Amino acid sequence: MSRAAEVIIHLSAIKKNLNVAKLAAPNASAYAIIKADGYGHGILSTAYALRYADGFGVASIDEAIQLRAANIHKPILLLEGVFDKSELVEALQHNLEIVIHHKWQIDALQELAIKLNNNGSTNKQTKFNIWLKLDTGMNRLGFSPKDIYSAWNSLKNLPVVQSIKLMTHLANADNTADNCTEDQLIRFESATQNINTLKSIANSAGVLAWPQTHADIIRPGIMLYGASPIIKTSASDFELTPAMTLRTKLISVKELKKGSPVGYGGDWVAPNDTKLGVAAIGYGDGYPRHAHSGTPVLVGGKRTQIVGRVSMDMVCVDLGKLPDAKIGDDVVLWGEGLPVEEVAQHAGTISYELFCGITKRVRRIEQQ
Ligand SMILES: *Cc1c(COP(=O)(O)O)cnc(C)c1O
Repeated sequence: MSRAAEVIIHLSAIKKNLNVAKLAAPNASAYAIIKADGYGHGILSTAYALRYADGFGVASIDEAIQLRAANIHKPILLLEGVFDKSELVEALQHNLEIVIHHKWQIDALQELAIKLNNNGSTNKQTKFNIWLKLDTGMNRLGFSPKDIYSAWNSLKNLPVVQSIKLMTHLANADNTADNCTEDQLIRFESATQNINTLKSIANSAGVLAWPQTHADIIRPGIMLYGASPIIKTSASDFELTPAMTLRTKLISVKELKKGSPVGYGGDWVAPNDTKLGVAAIGYGDGYPRHAHSGTPVLVGGKRTQIVGRVSMDMVCVDLGKLPDAKIGDDVVLWGEGLPVEEVAQHAGTISYELFCGITKRVRRIEQQ
């Protein structure tokens, strides 16, 4: 028999969560962000569940080509643009939209424009829809406010450019008490006020907590998978439905004497006589090794907690308060009935990382 660890993907939840985003920003269009294999939910099934989005955002041309090969004809945006000038031609062939965040990418476009001109081809398939990226304070990708206008001008006159949108990315929108988002917005508006085009600012946190960032196009990611993007809140606060349930089964249940150490290093010592369960899941499946004793789990639908260090294939759970628990009982690590945000917090990480970390050996089950 194979291992019991499995991940359930609730496709209807993803579809519903897109609707939550659209209702929150009714005047904007929505590019659904499905990078990193749809945040670990499976890129193709996620794209299908999100078929009412206006477009998709991915992190690499490989992901985009995978979508095109599956007959997805919607706009697809490469969120970091091309990584190499050779990818530009490929991006054109697959009709991909590209972010331009750095001067070398403009130079590469100019070079391509000259090349295509020499070939005498100027039809529509040789033109890009571009998202010009402004750095408004995250200091990661993008042109500085002082350079944005000249970047816009050099792109505008290129024969390979069909349209140019403007975008920026929010650094601290998950914290509603932080002024950074407002500062970024002010910088964005002042740097782009003389440029009349479509604008895009909001990630999930912007969509849900900062209506002034909605602009023309929103770019929701994590909220589509049913996790809250805002710190100290849960998905249910925003009527989001968890789209991933990670679960397994108990493979051992036994009595444990007070004072017995549990697991590698004996980090946790039973404070009383208790019952100990072993669940067939570990960091080899993507359950975080940093989840410490006290991280919540559901056994047979009832809440308890893990104890001791997480092993590669197993984790121990305290069954002291669940006297009826038995071998074969379902154990939910996160998802339905147990918010992933809570688990992430106990593991010193974020829901994004937990979603992306599910490994290949975990059986995937898609449900409508
Ligand atoms: C990943 C990403 C998003 C989505 O962010 P979430 O926090 O998951 O909503 C939006 N825009 C860009 C540029 C991104 O890279």
